[in-house]
Amino acid sequence: MARPQPSTIASAHGPAVVVVGSSNTDMILRVAHVPRPGETLLGGEFSTAAGGKGANQAVAAARAGGRVAFVARIGLDSLGDEAVAGFRREGIGVSHVVRDPSRPSGVALIFVGGDGENSIGVAGGANQRLSPADVNAARRSIAKARVLLVQLETPLRTVEAAARLASRAGVPVILNPAPAQHLPDRLLRNVSVLTPNETEASLLTGIRVKDVASAARAARALKARGVGTVIVTLGAKGALVAGADGERWVRGFKVKAVDTTAAGDVFSGALAVRLAEGRPLADAVRFAHAAAAISVTRAGAQPSIPARREILARLRK
Ligand code: ADP
Repeated sequence: MARPQPSTIASAHGPAVVVVGSSNTDMILRVAHVPRPGETLLGGEFSTAAGGKGANQAVAAARAGGRVAFVARIGLDSLGDEAVAGFRREGIGVSHVVRDPSRPSGVALIFVGGDGENSIGVAGGANQRLSPADVNAARRSIAKARVLLVQLETPLRTVEAAARLASRAGVPVILNPAPAQHLPDRLLRNVSVLTPNETEASLLTGIRVKDVASAARAARALKARGVGTVIVTLGAKGALVAGADGERWVRGFKVKAVDTTAAGDVFSGALAVRLAEGRPLADAVRFAHAAAAISVTRAGAQPSIPARREILARLRK
């Protein structure tokens, strides 16, 4: 009999990765130029895409080989039906996805002009009602998980409740602090691994992060506020990893970037899976780099997210 893979071992005990976060539908209208106030522009081309940082990270983790459960609030509408059907197709557990009749599903309306300029409006809708009580209802799944993965597109008190619950149960918490916002130390103290990009690390610390040295300074500042491990991602360059055993630079993969949308989401989703498998930190960061690098070579957010075999093939190359 084949030796079981680490992910199979984890899955025998319930979800290895629980993601608490947002789900949106991106409604994209490609037009000659972004319409000005009062202007009606014909001749556009319409498309929709599943999005939202929570959903992107859940899909990234599922494709990376994790057994994933998603905790979210989605409207009781047709966009919500499509979103949930999408999660099911990815093999993501949806028993903690609450359908909310009081708010529409989250939507991002995106105009993309001919020269690539864009204009985006987001209505969080049901995402804004994801509550500490919703998290509490998922407490058994969270306590059984190998890793909890959260971001900042749902109310902060909900993120805090999830991190506190996981931390008390001894489950490591990975926080991708996006979109950038200031965070209280009481949350950071419950975070095992924080994955800011340059912008987020700068906002969180007040240090202008632009290279290895400034990323290391920001990481130290965040560790002093209670975070276990800080991974500052610097796009194509790589990531500064500051863990319990010191700081190191982990280089990224050289690829031809086509669309970097959701690179950070893919990075965090893949990282969560590799850490849930019990891999060492540097190994998990390499895996996350490979996954994110593949995703930037393709257009779109969720369609660009690679499968586990692609990630492993990239690592072997
Ligand atoms: P965000 O997408 O949140 O702005 P980054 O730009 O730091 O965050 O990208 C996150 C990760 O995605 C990086 O650590 C890296 O692994 C990968 N990545 C992003 N851009 C590129 C690129 N041009 N080439 C290769 N990898 C990339």
